[in-house]
Amino acid sequence: MEEWNAATLRRLKLWVLAVFLSTAPSFRLSAQDYRAQALRILKAVPLIDGHNDIPDAIRERGGLDSVDFAVPQPKLMTDIPKLRAGAVGGQFWAAYVPVTTMDSGPHPAVYALEQIDLIKRLCAKYPRDLAMAYSAADVERNFAAGKISCLIGIEGGHAIENSLGALRMFAALGVRYITLTHWRSLSWATASTDTARRGLSAFGREVVHEMNRLGILVDLSHVNDGTMSDALHAARAPVMFSHSSARALSHHSRNVPDSILRLVAPNGGIVMVNFNPGFVSEAVRVYEDSLEPRVRALKAAGTDTAAIRDSLRTWRARAPKATLQQVADHIDYLRRVVGADHVGLGSDFDGITEVPVGLEDVSKFPDLIAELLRRGWSEQDLRKVAGMNVLRVLRDAERVATEGNAKARRTDAQR
Ligand SMILES: [Zn+2]
Repeated sequence: MEEWNAATLRRLKLWVLAVFLSTAPSFRLSAQDYRAQALRILKAVPLIDGHNDIPDAIRERGGLDSVDFAVPQPKLMTDIPKLRAGAVGGQFWAAYVPVTTMDSGPHPAVYALEQIDLIKRLCAKYPRDLAMAYSAADVERNFAAGKISCLIGIEGGHAIENSLGALRMFAALGVRYITLTHWRSLSWATASTDTARRGLSAFGREVVHEMNRLGILVDLSHVNDGTMSDALHAARAPVMFSHSSARALSHHSRNVPDSILRLVAPNGGIVMVNFNPGFVSEAVRVYEDSLEPRVRALKAAGTDTAAIRDSLRTWRARAPKATLQQVADHIDYLRRVVGADHVGLGSDFDGITEVPVGLEDVSKFPDLIAELLRRGWSEQDLRKVAGMNVLRVLRDAERVATEGNAKARRTDAQR
């Protein structure tokens, strides 16, 4: 019989420990346990998402009367039952203004007004579940009353039509952030997709200062790096990225590069992670970027439309997919580079056409929180990411606005 030497004994001890750890319930939480813990966290703090495009999706479907938000809508990523299942406590609804309004159709300002009107009517139509919020205190009050807060963000600075008066009136209507550009540059701010290296103009800096004075958050999702940097240097209040992820993980121009991330903590701002697969996964981004040149090559070779459509179908079937775990990777990465105090969630649901596996709609937020718990995140940090960080940013912006206005009144009195 073999002698029991020290090495064998050590191996045996390790094996017993491994078996114990893998079976003892107190040592190994199951997926359900993490989900239950996530839901407990979201009972204590409101989960606030930075960007959801349901107002535009509703407009496209013919307006509020065409969509019953109170019952499950299989074709939408957002409805009240899903928001409740996802334990959502507050949502920035995007008053998205297409850049095409700069060329034709209703004026951008009118379009923005119509979308703000739609958000307010949506919120008023379901008073048992939704309530408008214009401040951090409103969000907390609504949350205590068991209601989901509706916050308004305008997507596209073209909505102000170069008018500080219009900007002030949007503030009076309760708009809490404006994304400076959408896909196209303005005369005063440059979009992320623009090859120009310009940033903010002198008027652009004036817009930023006026937004700070009014307590409207400056949203830097969609602008180019020059504009991000200019706005961060001009801002007197924390800025936000309402729906952008980390460029180090997916090299998309809509994501935030490390050089800018380093400016966010000193500014006190927040980066709210986007779930758009092309922003989340580098493989998906490369695949998406390859589509146009591939179609162009087929066309140049004289391929007919039906064959091109077939090719597209084949490519799509084999396309890489983003995952919930990769979204968690962005959140991990941002915590490492900017700190847990400056990270949030900005799904872009109903504005994106593809979704990460595991994050299909607003009901899946607790699964993301559960994944972060599994990775060893503390409850305290997750409360921040879920909602406390963006509430702090809102409150700081409110304070800067109040102080700025008090200072202006003092200066007036001295005149
Ligand atoms: Zn967007």
